[in-house]
Amino acid sequence: MSLKGKTAVVTGSNSGIGLGVARELARAGASVVLNSFTDRDEDHQLAAEMAKEFGVDVRYIKADMSKGEECRALIEQAGACDILVNNAGIQHVAPIDEFPVEKWDAIIAINLNSAFHTTAAALPMMRKAGWGRVVNVASAHGLTASPFKSAYVAAKHGIVGMTKTVALETAKEAITCNAICPGYVKTPLVEAQIPDTAAKYNMSEEEVIEKVILERQPSKEFATTEQIGGTAVFLCSDAAAQITGTTISVDGGWTAL
Ligand code: NAD
Repeated sequence: MSLKGKTAVVTGSNSGIGLGVARELARAGASVVLNSFTDRDEDHQLAAEMAKEFGVDVRYIKADMSKGEECRALIEQAGACDILVNNAGIQHVAPIDEFPVEKWDAIIAINLNSAFHTTAAALPMMRKAGWGRVVNVASAHGLTASPFKSAYVAAKHGIVGMTKTVALETAKEAITCNAICPGYVKTPLVEAQIPDTAAKYNMSEEEVIEKVILERQPSKEFATTEQIGGTAVFLCSDAAAQITGTTISVDGGWTAL
């Protein structure tokens, strides 16, 4: 599978799943645009190291995915966008009646609205190129719910819905739009939830992983960022040309329960 000649923009890709997806796309030969809201030397260094490792063009572009105009500017600055991976995301856990309004707004902005803005900006480029792939990183929480994650679950269900609509709007073109729904993947987003949960349930961090986090994941194993990246590469392949408007779960059986 070669993605040589394609440019991939991966939002929220200086860490975790986004970085894993960007690496697999680069391994497959795509030029890659990395993104986050920071502009540190290490962000640009990450891009330089990836370029060297995979022998492809890798750039880092700062853009805050909580701001619509910056989402659109990211795509414009990329100059080309054959593959768009909407991955940036944050989490906050609280009962709905105590859920901080600013956290609700930030989660909806970063996890859902950003994908609206980037997709709107990228589709004309894909149409001009005559080919495109939109891959939305949703979640098992795009298909099921958990208590205390109202904003996250709402945003992820929202992005699954938007995935279907974009697929219908592009159905007659060589453009597909799908969502990957990971179960738990051990990234900074998940690791940040472990100490609080351990304190709340008076458990060790190992017990939290086994009895709380992986409780709903029948495989009892985390999915890896490489596996999510490999799924994204598959969705970019010719074999997946007729796969559009759907979700692919990478969740160790979570949504089969
Ligand atoms: P992470 O915290 O490691 O990565 C999140 C990325 O988003 C980082 O690169 C961060 O810099 C970026 N980001 C955050 N706010 C941003 C903003 N305002 N503008 C631009 N970039 C921003 O988390 P992750 O686990 O890799 O999560 C990535 C995606 O995968 C999210 O959409 C998350 O909901 C989804 N997901 C994660 C899991 C999991 O178990 N880790 C499971 C299902 C879905």
